[in-house]
Amino acid sequence: MALRTAEEYREGLRDGRKVYLLGNPVPDVTEDPYIKVGVETGAHDFLMGHDPEMREIAVMKDTETGEEISTYFEVPDVPEVIKRRHNLILKACYYADGAIPFVKDVGTDIMNGIKVASRLMGNKEYEGRIDNYRRYCARNDLSMAGAVTDVKGDRRKGPSEQESPDYYVRVVDETEDEIVVSGAKAHITAGVYVDEILVIPTRNLTEAEADYAVAFAIPVNTPGITQICRPNFRFEDTNHFPTPHPRRGHVESLLIFDNVRVPKERVFMLREWQFAQILTYAFAAFHRFTAVTYKIPILEFMTGLGMLAADANGVSKASHVREIFVNMIKYTETTKSLARAALYEPEDFGGSGLFVPNRLTCNMAKLFFASNFHEFVRDIQDISGGLLVTQPTYRDWENPELNPYLRKYMGGASGYTAEERLKLMSSLHHTVGSDFAAWHEVCTIHAEGSFASQKMMLMVEAPIEEYKKKAKTIVGLNV
Ligand SMILES: Cc1cc2nc3c(=O)[nH]c(=O)nc-3n(C[C@H](O)[C@H](O)[C@H](O)COP(=O)(O)OP(=O)(O)OC[C@H]3O[C@@H](n4cnc5c(N)ncnc54)[C@H](O)[C@@H]3O)c2cc1C
Repeated sequence: MALRTAEEYREGLRDGRKVYLLGNPVPDVTEDPYIKVGVETGAHDFLMGHDPEMREIAVMKDTETGEEISTYFEVPDVPEVIKRRHNLILKACYYADGAIPFVKDVGTDIMNGIKVASRLMGNKEYEGRIDNYRRYCARNDLSMAGAVTDVKGDRRKGPSEQESPDYYVRVVDETEDEIVVSGAKAHITAGVYVDEILVIPTRNLTEAEADYAVAFAIPVNTPGITQICRPNFRFEDTNHFPTPHPRRGHVESLLIFDNVRVPKERVFMLREWQFAQILTYAFAAFHRFTAVTYKIPILEFMTGLGMLAADANGVSKASHVREIFVNMIKYTETTKSLARAALYEPEDFGGSGLFVPNRLTCNMAKLFFASNFHEFVRDIQDISGGLLVTQPTYRDWENPELNPYLRKYMGGASGYTAEERLKLMSSLHHTVGSDFAAWHEVCTIHAEGSFASQKMMLMVEAPIEEYKKKAKTIVGLNV
C-alpha cells in the first residue's frame, strides 16, 4: 500500500471506535469541533509524504519491497538514524505550524524501545513480532499512540498492593493464541485519533507482579476499549482573531481496557517482569529526545511572540525589557543546544545494537526545559501587560457599534494598528493566558515524565565516580 493521504487517514478513523467527550459518545472524531484540532494536527504526518518540499525527509524506501514508507519507521541500528529522526521531528513541527503532529513518533519510540528490550531479553520471538508489526504499520501507513502511564492509584504502592488490581494494566486471562487484558492508562495523547495503540508497562515490577509485565499493540476500535477525553481548546475558534493558520494541538484520553482480547502475534512482553524496567528506560531514551526536539519550535515561536508584544507596547528598548529578552533567548537557545548536544554522542543501548541519543544530555535537556518554562511564561506575561487576559474579543471587533471604539483605544506603538495589536494579544492570550496555556504548563512538567524521572536518570547516567575520583586526586585522598 502506498503512503496514505490525509483524507485516507481521516477516513480510517471512522471505524466505530468508542470515544466519549463531555459525557457524550463521539460518533466521528474527525467532525467533533474539539478533537478535530488534534486530527488536523496529526494529519500533517500524512500531508508530508505527498509534499515535494518534505518528501526527502519524510519518505524512505522499504528495504525489502522498495515501497515508499514513512521515515518514522526507520530502525535506529546506526547512530545516523538518530540525527535523521531529530531532523524529521523538527521539520514536521515547523510544517505543522509549530506543533508536533504526534501520530507516528511516540508509536515508533515504543517500537524502538520494544526492539531494544527483546534483544536484551535474548527473545527472538518477540523481536520477530515487533519487526513484523513495524512492517505492518509502515506498509499500511498507520498512525499510533503510546500508552505507558497507568492510572496508578496510591503512588506509594506497587500494582499488586493496590486497592484495585486494575490500577495498572494486566493480563487477566490467556489461551494458546491470545491474552485478555484489563486496566486503564491515563493522559494518552492522540489516543482517540490514531489507528493503533502500543501499550507497555510504566515502571519496574516484582515477580508477584508478573501479570503486569505486558506489552502489546491493539487497533483502537477493538471491543472492550473505551476512551474518555476532554476539550483542550474551549472557546478558541469563534472568539479569537483569525490567523492564517488554524490552532494546532492535541487531546488526551483516559484509555480503558475492559477484558480486551489481544492476539499473541501482537504481544511483545508477557510476564517477563525482570525486563519491565529496561523496556520503560529504553522507550524513555527515545521518547525524551522526541520531547526535547518538539519543544524547539514552540520556544522559538513563544520568544518571537513575547518580543512582538514588547514592540506593540512600545517597551522593547526599556532596560528591564531587554533583560527579559536576554532571559528568553538564553532559555530557548540553551534548550536547543542541549537537544542538539544529545545527538553528538549517541549510545548503543545496553549493547543491543540499537542507538539512542546520549541519555545524560537528553535528560538534562528535558529537565532544563521543564524547570524553566514557567519563568519564561511569566516573562512573556510581564511584557504583554494585562490586556493578555482582558482583551476585547474578535466578536467585539466585528460589532459595528464597538469597532470604532476599539480602533480608537486599542492602538499601541507606532507601526501597530489597533487590529494588529489585538490580533497579537489574541495569540498571546491563547499561548500564555488561556486554559490551553495552563494545559501547556502542566504538559511541560509531566508529559514525557515528570521532574523526578529525569533527576533519577541524571543520578544513573552521570559519571559520579569520575567526578569524585578527580576531586580525590587533586585533594590527595586515599579513601
Ligand atoms: C499533556 C500530557 C500528555 C501526556 N501524554 C502521554 C501519552 O501520550 N502516553 C502516556 O503514556 N503518558 C502520557 N502522559 C503522562 C505523563 O507521562 C505522566 O503525567 C507523568 O509520567 C506523571 O505521572 P502522573 O501524571 O501519574 O503523576 P504522578 O506520578 O502522580 O506525579 C505527581 C507527583 O508525585 C510524585 N510521585 C509519583 N510517584 C511517586 C512515588 N512513588 N513516590 C514519591 N513521589 C511520587 C511525582 O514525582 C510528582 O511530583 C501525558 C501527560 C500529560 C500532562
